[in-house]
Amino acid sequence: MAINKLLIANRGEIALRIHRAAHEMGIKTIAVHSTADADAMHVRLADEAICIGPPSATDSYLNIPSIISAAEISQADAIHPGYGFLSENAKFAEIVESHGIIWIGPKPEHIETMGDKVAAKKTAGALGLPLVPGSAGAVEDFDEARVIARDIGYPVIIKAASGGGGRGMKVVNNEEELESQMGQARSEAKSAFGDATVYIEKYLADPRHIEFQVFGDGKGNAIHLGERDCSLQRRHQKVLEEAPSPVITSEERERMGAVVVKAMADMAYRGAGTIEFLYENGEFFFIEMNTRLQVEHPVTEMITGMDLVREQIRIASGEPLSRTQDEITFSGHAIECRINAEDPENFTPSPGKVTAYHAPGGLFVRVDSGLYQGYSVPPYYDSMIAKLIVFGHTREGCLMRLNRALEEFVIEGMKTTIPLHQRLLENAEFRSGDYTIKWLEKWLADEREARES
Ligand code: ADP
Repeated sequence: MAINKLLIANRGEIALRIHRAAHEMGIKTIAVHSTADADAMHVRLADEAICIGPPSATDSYLNIPSIISAAEISQADAIHPGYGFLSENAKFAEIVESHGIIWIGPKPEHIETMGDKVAAKKTAGALGLPLVPGSAGAVEDFDEARVIARDIGYPVIIKAASGGGGRGMKVVNNEEELESQMGQARSEAKSAFGDATVYIEKYLADPRHIEFQVFGDGKGNAIHLGERDCSLQRRHQKVLEEAPSPVITSEERERMGAVVVKAMADMAYRGAGTIEFLYENGEFFFIEMNTRLQVEHPVTEMITGMDLVREQIRIASGEPLSRTQDEITFSGHAIECRINAEDPENFTPSPGKVTAYHAPGGLFVRVDSGLYQGYSVPPYYDSMIAKLIVFGHTREGCLMRLNRALEEFVIEGMKTTIPLHQRLLENAEFRSGDYTIKWLEKWLADEREARES
């Protein structure tokens, strides 16, 4: 079914990203926005805009009845949820489909399974993906947890089945800690996610975070677009991502790529997905699957030459995958820096009015951002205000160009994490590609110490 009018149920850079893909395909766009976002760039560029509520996300971007009414009033024939907000809400996906509107996303049942991390791990195991050693399912109490932890060995990590965004995880080093943390982990999970279910897995000492981008047509055909390395994290949140990973060999890419493609084909997965692994000593361990577009998708676009949002829209309209696995080639290297409105030293949020703005340009430089001079970054939402994505034929060339692009980037009126990325680029270990998920926090702690001494 052809899509003529697309409602974008999101805000910020991703709403703009979706608008751009849609317009390039000749599809009209409808922006829905909170009162705080009336002046946002995606609202200004969309063909139609509908205000769906006050600033609080619960009353606007998460307000299902308002969004569905907006879709009906504007006669949208499809909804793209972006990432975050309602993108992994299976109920929302079902409601959209039950109104006869095309849902640009996976089948609701797959969103539901993968959104519950316990069910996701079971499914992944059954589909042949290698798992982090741990409990086979939910763990009810300390007694049960103790048996499992003794079996897999400390340290272990207690995770909330409904957790996400780097929240709802506790590392436990011994039995005493396990005893005191189990109850707390459950009650925290209950209050944060409305679900007390937790499970346990081995806490890997020093892995990298490697994720595979996949697409399925919903009919049993699937492809992978290689991996992204998202090991540079602060508080389990990604800061900078690259593709390909500096450490994955083409043999590993092909081998794991074949494993994830088979899994996606077997479940007849539809749309875009990301399968996240921890990687240590040459082994991959599945941690979760995200049933949506990722923030870091542009690095994959840069090295494959594919437009992932266009691919999502095509699949949702019932078209076949645009390429076969053999037609997908990887070329060069891409890095994305997430730029947040935050103090680059202590990370306190710093929203405000943009008094001067100049985005870098030139060959192989891409900026995904809704910022413009005079725009006020509202304090109600995520602090990410821009993504800088740079391509180079080699990793070294990419780093040189990134350095140049960061130098050009001007955002005045608030503190941003641009200086953090610049400091990072000067670091020899980062430049060599020799880092793991623990590396960034350790480097930040060392920096802090140096500043204070
Ligand atoms: P979320 O859904 O909150 O993003 P994930 O399960 O994807 O949670 O984990 C986020 C990050 O937490 C990982 O990228 C990694 O840095 C860390 N992590 C998760 N599980 C483990 C583990 N078993 N051992 C070590 N680190 C882990």
